[in-house]
This record gives sequence, structure tokens and C-alpha cells, in this order.
Amino acid sequence: MARIPPGGHWSKDYPWPAVSHEHSIQQLSDDLERAGYHPFSAPCGILLDEANRPKSACIRCSTCDGFPCLLHAKADAEVIGVRPVLDLDNVTLVVDAEVRRLTTDSSGKTVTGVVVSRAGETVTYSGDIVVLAAGAVNTARILLSSASGAHPAGLANRSDQVGRNLMLHNSEPVVVIAKEPNNSAFQKTLGLNDFYFAGDGRPWPLGNIQMVGKSSMVTRRADPLLSTLGLRLNPAEIAGHAVDFWLTTEDLPRPGNRVTVDRDGNIHLAYRLTNQPETDGLRRELTTAMSRIGLTADRVLDKNFFRHKANPIAGVAHQAGTCRFGADPATSVLDLNCKAHELDNLYVADASFLPSMGAVNPALTVMANALRVGEHLLERLS
Ligand SMILES: Cc1cc2nc3c(=O)[nH]c(=O)nc-3n(C[C@H](O)[C@H](O)[C@H](O)COP(=O)(O)OP(=O)(O)OC[C@H]3O[C@@H](n4cnc5c(N)ncnc54)[C@H](O)[C@@H]3O)c2cc1C
Ligand code: SF4
Repeated sequence: MARIPPGGHWSKDYPWPAVSHEHSIQQLSDDLERAGYHPFSAPCGILLDEANRPKSACIRCSTCDGFPCLLHAKADAEVIGVRPVLDLDNVTLVVDAEVRRLTTDSSGKTVTGVVVSRAGETVTYSGDIVVLAAGAVNTARILLSSASGAHPAGLANRSDQVGRNLMLHNSEPVVVIAKEPNNSAFQKTLGLNDFYFAGDGRPWPLGNIQMVGKSSMVTRRADPLLSTLGLRLNPAEIAGHAVDFWLTTEDLPRPGNRVTVDRDGNIHLAYRLTNQPETDGLRRELTTAMSRIGLTADRVLDKNFFRHKANPIAGVAHQAGTCRFGADPATSVLDLNCKAHELDNLYVADASFLPSMGAVNPALTVMANALRVGEHLLERLS
């Protein structure tokens, strides 16, 4: 599969072919190209071998959005990372266990215990190296809850950066009512990065446009909006014409956007939206693109069976940045290998490390960095 535009000198082709567009998405791609845009095949983490279908685990169903795949056909951490190693003698998976805090030796430089709550009991595990990967919010929570004499503000938090710079992405789901029916089952195969960077009169980058799961039936809440369209279609037919987009604008790191933990261990999130004009600008660019392919602005609607302006504080799916890495211990939590500056044997390998998060889905970057940290650990252990 070709590299994704705008690419860069570091960019390479993907090793696997692109997932083919279904008819309506191919039509959309062709229309956009004719109008001067540069749609591309979005990378899809699904185990699908279109040339040799019997080998495919994925059946290209329409329920890929945000749910575990019952066929284990998503190329996610469970399928690609965890399941294949479960038979190894030196791997033990402990389930139904919640890490509460980490303990250190008296110098505060070495983690000596991982304190876990399991089935009402407290169990402490130990290891030469401890890698924390509980997601950006919970990793910060665990570190902040591990305050001690040696680390009074929370483990690895002399810089006061643990929990800060929380980023969530400015994401906006939009539904476009196409003229032709869209019978796609799996429509997440197309992306558009024409507005990713500044330029052409845009002072700042706007972000990425991609597809999201197909509307199967426009909800009742959407009906009043849709009736204004004057389309002679009933709700089911309108759902059949829906083409669903996901607009992503970069969320910028603000020190005041942060995770804190109160005395009872409850998580609190403080968050103020960044980059709002660029989020609105991306929506305008999508509307213009749709009009250039023959769809009027009143056919570009909020996909409001999510929520309007989809991801306020409650939408933390893309949480990142709470333990950013960097060369300077005064302004970052982790060093460039994602080892905590202040500890010898503590690493963080989840979305917390990101100092900025771009305007693309985060999982591939989080996975790539975790593999990089893994390679460093292999070297260190050998
Ligand atoms: C609905 C939804 C849809 C998404 N869709 C996409 C997408 O299409 N593409 C994309 O790139 N990204 C997507 N994301 C974002 C992506 O899933 C995250 O960016 C990514 O999983 C972050 O990886 P992580 O390792 O930081 O955290 P996670 O993958 O969240 O892993 C953290 C793990 O730690 C565990 N954990 C947390 N606290 C504790 C504790 N105290 N003790 C023990 N275990 C703990 C959690 O159970 C979890 O298994 C989506 C997210 C959601 C919620
Ligand atoms: S949920 Fe459906 S489309 Fe997604 S990986 Fe599984 S089978 Fe494939």
C-alpha cells in the first residue's frame, strides 16, 4: 500500500495492500479526484487478505467502530500482541486485577513493587523492570497515587508534568447525505489530507478527514434535521444514503489541561478546548469539497446521534500526553527511551508519552513507540 500523503522523507510504503473501496466509496474517491482533491487509501488494522479470502479472519462487517471484534480479526494489541505469546513459559497474564500504586526502595530510584487489587485482595508483584501502560489518564493516576517520601508530588513527578498536557483530539463526526445510495458495509477505507498542513490561505494546519462507521439507521433525534432537507426519502432511505466522515484536528498540549487525583483516589480532569477555529475550518473545507462534487451544504450534517461537537471532556477515547517524553528532566517525565527520568527501572509505553499528537488516530503511533521501547528493553536486558 502506498504511503499516506503528505508523507515526508521518512515515509515508506506499507507492506500490505490497501483494503479496496466498496462501490460508493470508490465513487466518492473518483468524484473528489475529479474535483482536484487527493483522497488516499486509509490504512486499516484488520486481518483481511482480499486476494485469498479463505485466509481472511475479517468479514468486512459494519460494526468495526469502537468495539472488540468477535472474530479476533482486528489487528489490535490483544490479537497481535497478547494472544500469540500467552503459551510462552515466561508469560503470565493476570486478569481482573487493578494496579493501585507502585512502591520504590528508600532511595526512590527503583520500583520494587506493583501493588494490585485483585478479587478483594491486595497482591504485590515485582520485577527487574516495570513498564506502565494503563492509558494516559490511568497511568497518570497510578503515578500520582504513588507519592512517597522520596516522591512527594507523585512518582517521577519532580518536574510537575505528570498528568499535565492532556490531549484528546478535536474530533467531529459528520454525516453527508449522498444523492446515490451508499450500501457499503465497511466504508473506512478513504482518507483526505489536503488540509493537513497550513497553506492555500490557511494560516494553520486544519487536520485529517477520514471515514467512520456507516450509519445503519438515522436515529429519531436526527429526523427533524433531516426533514429540512426536502429530500423525498423516509428515514431508512436517508440512512441508506448516509456517508459518514470523522474530522480530526490536533489538540494542543496545555499544562492546565490535566489529570489530578483526589485523596480518595478519584480522577479529576481539567480541560479547555484548543484549536477551535481550525476545527471549524476543517468542517468548512469538507462542506466546500462536498459542494464541489455536487452536494449542497444542507446535506452535510452533524452526526448527532453521537454528540454535537463530539468529544468534549467526556470523550477521552484519544487521551494522550500526560507523561510526555523529552531530553530535559525539568520539562518532561520520560527520557527518549520512555524511561522515567527519576527512576532506573520504570518505563511508560502508552499514549502518555506523546508530547504532541498530530491530527491522526493515535493507535499506530502508540504501538510503534511501544515496539521501539521493547527493542530498547531487549538491548538493555541482554
Ligand atoms: C471507542 C474507541 C474507538 C477508537 N478508535 C480508534 C481508531 O479507529 N484508531 C485509532 O488509532 N485509535 C482509536 N482509538 C484510540 C486508541 O484505542 C487509543 O489511542 C489506544 O488504545 C491508546 O493506547 P494505550 O496503550 O495508551 O491505552 P489502552 O489501549 O487504553 O490500554 C490501557 C490498558 O490498561 C488497562 N488499565 C487501565 N488502568 C489500569 C489499572 N489501574 N490496572 C490495570 N490495568 C489498567 C486498561 O484496561 C487497558 O487495557 C479508539 C478509542 C476508543 C475508546
Ligand atoms: S469488526 Fe468486522 S470489519 Fe472489523 S475486523 Fe471484525 S470482522 Fe472485520
